[in-house]
Amino acid sequence: MKSYKIVTFGCQMNLADSGSLAAVLNARGFHPAETEVDADIVILNTCSVREKAEDRVFGRLGELYGMKKMQPGKKIAVVGCMSQRLGERILQRAPYVDIVLGTDRMLELPQYVDDGAFGAQVHTEFGYEEIDGLVPVRDNKFAAFLTIMRGCNQYCTYCIVPYVRSEERSYPLEKITFQVNQMVQDGVKEITLLGQNVNSYNDGRHDFADLLRAVARNTDIKRIRFMTSHPKDLSDRLIDVMATEPKMMAHLHLPMQSGSNRILRRMGRIYTYEHFLNLIHKMRAAVADIAISTDLIVGFCSETEEEFQMTLRAVEEIRFDSAFMFRYSPRQGTAAYRLPDDIPDNEKIRRLSRLINLQKRISFEKNQEELGKSRSVLVDGCSRRSQSVLKGKTGGNKTVLFTGPESLIGAIKTVRITSADAWTLHGELEN
Ligand code: SF4
Repeated sequence: MKSYKIVTFGCQMNLADSGSLAAVLNARGFHPAETEVDADIVILNTCSVREKAEDRVFGRLGELYGMKKMQPGKKIAVVGCMSQRLGERILQRAPYVDIVLGTDRMLELPQYVDDGAFGAQVHTEFGYEEIDGLVPVRDNKFAAFLTIMRGCNQYCTYCIVPYVRSEERSYPLEKITFQVNQMVQDGVKEITLLGQNVNSYNDGRHDFADLLRAVARNTDIKRIRFMTSHPKDLSDRLIDVMATEPKMMAHLHLPMQSGSNRILRRMGRIYTYEHFLNLIHKMRAAVADIAISTDLIVGFCSETEEEFQMTLRAVEEIRFDSAFMFRYSPRQGTAAYRLPDDIPDNEKIRRLSRLINLQKRISFEKNQEELGKSRSVLVDGCSRRSQSVLKGKTGGNKTVLFTGPESLIGAIKTVRITSADAWTLHGELEN
């Protein structure tokens, strides 16, 4: 039996894809290896969102080449977004790679390993064939990701995703509720429904609000989350589901990207700051204690100091619980790549650190508001520092550390918050 090791780069979607790939390989008689050295085949599931992400993959390929020289039978496969973007070009820089599979072809890997074909194989055609009945392999026994749609039709000008994951395709609602129940039988308590823009989910008969209500009412899952949303498609019906379905976790990840309407237009985001702010107000009015996180980009083409200040003011006004913050990185193939990348790197770095410091202060203040509150927490393991300290996530997707017996792992417990810093809450078990 051949052994494999999957190394995953990038987002939750890639983690979910790696889980599906591992399930396919296991079903075809392969078994997971502990390390890349032990594995007969090493699979890199790649990310292409920034140049740095691709450089990291080529760095890892260099290391694998060293291993392959010592173990000539070892196979190397590169799958996912970078394979989709570069295809054959990967072999020019790494001719020792055996298999290159795009985002829609990766589940076919077993057939390319066994076919003994001479020379490297490259397959990047779109058209994803889902494998029915397989429960994706996952690290966390109690909390799992489930992909509900693939691709994105938004074409934000800075983003490579639509080019490497193709147009939106939503899975049938019945298939998703069936998979959720399969995962519940496999011990899952919390599901995160995944898509590049889940708000535009539509299987031809049901939209995203229908899907959430069906998962809440027609499955035995305990807690439901979803990501990533696009403000353009955040409907009142979706807000109503979050306000009325108790299984919906009080957390929304809603990328804002910029506080300047001119920059939002140049990014192709199709909403204004005022529209975004109104959505935040609606969500906070409808869902008590909802935690809101976001994505922000600074230093986008032609962003003035005043427009950067608009982003800082927006962050100050909205007071997000947390944020993923980036400096603009041009991606070949995107519309923005044709615009001059005219904000100097040191200025991008200055703006990013200014923003990070502001958000860190706000996250700290928001977490102080948690003190004394009792939060429902899914205990998903022990903290890295001590086996006697458990960790878990609140409904607001905040990490909580508290002392308790390992026997509580997998349970949903109530924890009273006693202290907090900008990233982590600390608490005491209530029941
Ligand atoms: S919504 Fe925009 S940023 Fe998000 S994946 Fe689609 S194109 Fe990229």
